[in-house]
Amino acid sequence: MAFEHEDMTTAEELAEIDRELARLVARRLEIARRLGRAAPAEARQARPEAVGLPEGLYPAILSRIAREAVKTGPTEKFPATVSEPRPVVIIGGNGGMGRGLRSHFERSGWPVRVLDRSDWPRAAEILEGAGTVIVSVPIDVTEATIARLKGLMPADAVLADVTSVKTEPLHAMLKAHAGPVVGLHPMFGPDVGSYAGQVFVICPGRDDAACEPLVKQIALWGARLCECTAEQHDRAMSIIQALRHFTTYAYGAFLAKIHPDLAKIVELSSPIYRLELDMVGRLFAQDPHLYADIILASPRNTELIREYVESLWNELIVISGRDRNEFIRRFLDVREFFGDFAQACLRDSGAMLRAIQEEREARK
Ligand code: NAD
Repeated sequence: MAFEHEDMTTAEELAEIDRELARLVARRLEIARRLGRAAPAEARQARPEAVGLPEGLYPAILSRIAREAVKTGPTEKFPATVSEPRPVVIIGGNGGMGRGLRSHFERSGWPVRVLDRSDWPRAAEILEGAGTVIVSVPIDVTEATIARLKGLMPADAVLADVTSVKTEPLHAMLKAHAGPVVGLHPMFGPDVGSYAGQVFVICPGRDDAACEPLVKQIALWGARLCECTAEQHDRAMSIIQALRHFTTYAYGAFLAKIHPDLAKIVELSSPIYRLELDMVGRLFAQDPHLYADIILASPRNTELIREYVESLWNELIVISGRDRNEFIRRFLDVREFFGDFAQACLRDSGAMLRAIQEEREARK
């Protein structure tokens, strides 16, 4: 190969290797793109360890390429689950979520109509002949908007919503419409260009068979479907979103109150604390309205947060009483609750920290 010439400087050799590598990665990516999500994993059988690569390096490169390959562009077309889909009406279709849905349906050959805030005088006309109606309006007007659809939709049309809470909108949909109903929750913001690899929660309402083309269409966009009841979803969201963001917010608020020298704190931090601090700091770099909406989304969240805050008193009593044995007993109880998952967390977070460390070193 050209870069083996003796008179080449090391810099030239490296440049040639980089070009060669880039060409190979581009070829690998092109084939992976062509195969899409059906790309086989057999390249891993090439056993790169045999040529002296450190364990894990080659699979890491491959999985990065695989992730790149399934990213879809805003012009990618999708097959439709039904041959001649009836129109899908997106209520609130001019909003963030609505625009993303519209683009995905249109690229799958579904005719799309939008019914936004000022379109209600024409609602009967817009909804006439609709096969699917998706409600994508702000949370606080969702139930009232669903109620307005009563009697306006074809009896056999599927009624769905994408609201971040599921229990109340699902009840409202079942009440407003006697036909097929399904609750959806895209677990991502409107800024994602593609739904590939993103999670869509599916909460069955009524007549799952009639809702299937819609659900399968979402799967064809590359989204990962996660089915659960509306109540299971809302309980999980209270924990994953409201409680998590509240504790992060409260920690940040407390830091602001005791006002430490942040630069010093960062300098003295171990990588894991630095990562935890990143999680706190990033919250305050974002839109406060978004977090207010998430935390205040339902009284269930306030109840759970209250339960959490009240439970802290008992923990404080143990610490104030310097009751070491009691602390250890409680700690072991929690470990039992986490079970094998605790070991998996230790392993996964260790790998994550190593990757972050490596990236930070590389950036230096
Ligand atoms: P948005 O404010 O960007 O869009 C809402 C749209 O609804 C706007 O076009 C608005 O004009 C329209 N609208 C308001 N009142 C209306 C009415 N009475 N009739 C018809 N249209 C009306 O909001 P968004 O971020 O697109 O959120 C829409 C839904 O998606 C919400 O239910 C939200 O919970 C859900 N969701 C949002 C996110 C997110 O990160 N933004 C994530 C998951 C789910």
